[in-house]
Amino acid sequence: MNIELLDILRCPFCGGRLELVSSMYHRSISDQIHDGILGCQCCIFPVVDGIPVLHLQPAAILAREHIEAARPAMALRAMVGLESHEEAERFEAAARSDASTYREIVDALGPNFEGGYFLYRFSDPTYVVANAVVRAVAGTVLQGKRRAVDMCGGSGHLTRTLMDLSSPAAVLADLFFPKIWLGRRFTAPGCEPVCCDGNGPMPFARGTFGYAMCSDAFQYIWTKRQFVGELSRLVAEPGAVVINHTHNQLTWSPSHGQPLSPAGYRDLFETIQPRIYAEAGLFADVVSGGALDLSRTDSSQALDADPALTIVASRHPGVYARHPLDTIDRSAGEFRINPLYVVESRGSQLRLRLQFPDADYEDEYGACKQYLPGETVIDRAALSALQSGAAAGPGPLQELIRRRVIVRLPDKYY
Ligand SMILES: [Zn+2]
Repeated sequence: MNIELLDILRCPFCGGRLELVSSMYHRSISDQIHDGILGCQCCIFPVVDGIPVLHLQPAAILAREHIEAARPAMALRAMVGLESHEEAERFEAAARSDASTYREIVDALGPNFEGGYFLYRFSDPTYVVANAVVRAVAGTVLQGKRRAVDMCGGSGHLTRTLMDLSSPAAVLADLFFPKIWLGRRFTAPGCEPVCCDGNGPMPFARGTFGYAMCSDAFQYIWTKRQFVGELSRLVAEPGAVVINHTHNQLTWSPSHGQPLSPAGYRDLFETIQPRIYAEAGLFADVVSGGALDLSRTDSSQALDADPALTIVASRHPGVYARHPLDTIDRSAGEFRINPLYVVESRGSQLRLRLQFPDADYEDEYGACKQYLPGETVIDRAALSALQSGAAAGPGPLQELIRRRVIVRLPDKYY
């Protein structure tokens, strides 16, 4: 972690500033703290492999004891949560190699981790809507001059979208340590990961950020009232609090969680009137291209009927407007053919056929068929030129990028 992160970190319990305890074991190089102990007035917390761990769950206590005893490798094992020696060695071997991909490390973390569909994340309907909302709202309020936080951001798939919008670098916060560890290495390189509990007070100073969000996780937060109060506390005006893809208590959805009704979500925001959008309307905007219309006011019938909702709370005058959609993915990374396609080589052309990994995926994410064609062709030379850095001007290739047939994936993703 960058030592300057200490300026914005606060103890989640006493609210006090945290300092590196220099009398205890630590490793730091120039402005980076690699391992060590952070102390406030009430508590001490470990920094494990450059990630501050600001909660007191059993793994964090164990990791702190390992750091205090100058055993940083054991502290990392404790936070990654691998039970057996064999599992730990497999993870460490994969982690050590610069050539390892995201997929290889996920495989090394075992079958209980990530649960499958990460390969297709960058084209699933939930992602494409959230990505468009993040670009529109964070782009408006941050202007590249303020900082963003992605609470419960998991492996950082949307933190990645914040990386060219947030300055200083976006903070990726999640309770699950291996996910933010992966996010920093692959998905959102350069982000500042912080391990903390979304069900507790957030470990940051008031007004630290211009933009705070939580995507596809809010329905799993129990302390929803505190969570929204905390996100609002973290943002300085004129900023934005965004909750992407939260489920709706009035309808059923897979991985339902403990959602509220649209009216229940609205009541959580006590100091600002949020706008709530039915995801279907935003999805239709993204599919048709052109603009994401955040000036819309969805009817209560539309909100009550939609399994997924997007909530935007802001006093910035530019937020509730029509935002032109990108025609090209501006994130860093490499252009690849979407892994949902089977590719067949025919002379100068590549023939693509959409094939879902299984019926469950098609059930949950089948709406992607509205932008992913069943079959298409790509000119092999044009794709090679794109992959070597040529700009994709208006034309068939740009349309394939817009429709996510060609996706820009993090380097070494799979
Ligand atoms: Zn404290």
